[in-house]
Amino acid sequence: MTQPAIIILGEASIPVARQIQIALPDAVVYGLARRTQSADITYANFGDIVRELFQGGTPIIGICAAGIMIRTLAPLLTNKWQEPPVLAIAEDGSAVVPLLGGLQGVNDIARQIAAVLQVSPAITTTGEIRFKTTLLSPPPGYQLLNPDDAKTFISDLLAGAKVKIIGAAPWLANSRLPMAEDAKLTIQIIAKNYLELAKPSSDCLVYLVDDRDGDAVLSSPKDETVTQLPSQGKPSQGKLAIVGTGPGAPLWMSPEVTEVLQTATDWVGYQTYLDLVESLRTPEIIRHESDNRVELDRAQMALDLAAQGRAVVVVSSGDPGIYAMASAVFEVLETKAKPEWETVDIRVCPGISAMQAAAATVGAPLGHDFCAISLSDILKPWAAIAQRIELAAQADFAIAFYNPVSKQRTWQLEKAKEILLQWRAPETPIVLARNLGRPGQQVTVKYLTELTTNDADMRTVILIGSSKTRLVAQGEKKQWVYTPRHYQISSSSREFGQN
Ligand code: SAH
Repeated sequence: MTQPAIIILGEASIPVARQIQIALPDAVVYGLARRTQSADITYANFGDIVRELFQGGTPIIGICAAGIMIRTLAPLLTNKWQEPPVLAIAEDGSAVVPLLGGLQGVNDIARQIAAVLQVSPAITTTGEIRFKTTLLSPPPGYQLLNPDDAKTFISDLLAGAKVKIIGAAPWLANSRLPMAEDAKLTIQIIAKNYLELAKPSSDCLVYLVDDRDGDAVLSSPKDETVTQLPSQGKPSQGKLAIVGTGPGAPLWMSPEVTEVLQTATDWVGYQTYLDLVESLRTPEIIRHESDNRVELDRAQMALDLAAQGRAVVVVSSGDPGIYAMASAVFEVLETKAKPEWETVDIRVCPGISAMQAAAATVGAPLGHDFCAISLSDILKPWAAIAQRIELAAQADFAIAFYNPVSKQRTWQLEKAKEILLQWRAPETPIVLARNLGRPGQQVTVKYLTELTTNDADMRTVILIGSSKTRLVAQGEKKQWVYTPRHYQISSSSREFGQN
């Protein structure tokens, strides 16, 4: 693609322009000469530069009102097949509006920009929203041969007609096209050698595949229908994303995770975690709920589903790599090692872990060296947990306790406190954070000596300060907790241990 142009009218738009460059690293920022100082290139006249870029086929991202862009380009809008993508972005980055160039992937660009700006793109093309695919702008390697029939074809689809695909179209694998064997509409994927068998019509969209390997489709000259041989065509590659949704609040979920969830075919996870993101689910996405204790079965099911070519998301809260599903997936991958899993495209999408969210609500208690310890003895013996607490306390780490107390595990926290008090002062600040980012969030700062089992449950994460962690007042109303970044060995913690 030609390098996109980000057009700005004033210096105030630079921060948003630079953020857009994170999504589109090739993009060049064009600034109005008399109003900008740090643009990559300057121009003298908005209308002239926009029209010139448009005619040259350059994707245009205007940080300006949609109306200005429309009026500037109106006289040039004659051929929808040749329009480059054009978008208008609000100056404060709060809106991303794809205007033109639907056939050149403007909605994809809108989604990429919206992801870095953390907003929803204003996508209005019905076919794409409903079917999660752009029949009019196939990916590189495919060319739609009868675009003029596409309008009627898509209208029929929107009106409820079904479709069947003949040939290999991996890019449609995760779409939500209404498929049926006896469908009225056909999508035909065809290689150059078999072009004479193409039957373009308003009931049949024909895509010419750039078939360098010569194995995408075959034709059966006898009955003049096009068939795909079983061994030919590449099966679509299944995907498995293991995502962390953060502790709960949507603002604490990364744009990457939002996108992966919205473009999935299947969600797999513990019911509570799936409920937390339910507002993002469309009816076509299948929920596979499971109990919180069957992680390995869940991981295996997710891998199996992905091996069938589906786009599967395994949902964890917080970060998926911290006491969560990512390890379970890799554990199953290692121990069961089914051959059909080898081609699954696995990715881990990080999230804000409970300890980070807890720390942020009170200041910076994890500002220096720290560690995390789960108090659950389901997967490791208490002796190992006790030893870790002792050594972490001795080493003067700040500590985040996950899974501190459950209905069945009630004594461990008291025991942990006992061990800590051998090394740490009774007035060490601690943070009890419950239901972070969820309804009923509760964060309390106390001293270690005041900690009781009643303070915590399975929805609580506890931060224990190091010997340096301190409380700091901001005026009369606000108090923060922080751990200084510098560390001089003082004798305090050691002396304490000797008490
Ligand atoms: N992957 C998660 C941790 C899962 S282990 C993460 O990175 O946060 C489950 C434990 O995490 C809970 O027992 C609790 O200690 C902590 N936790 C998870 N979500 C929490 C939340 N919203 N508020 C407080 N603690 C939470």
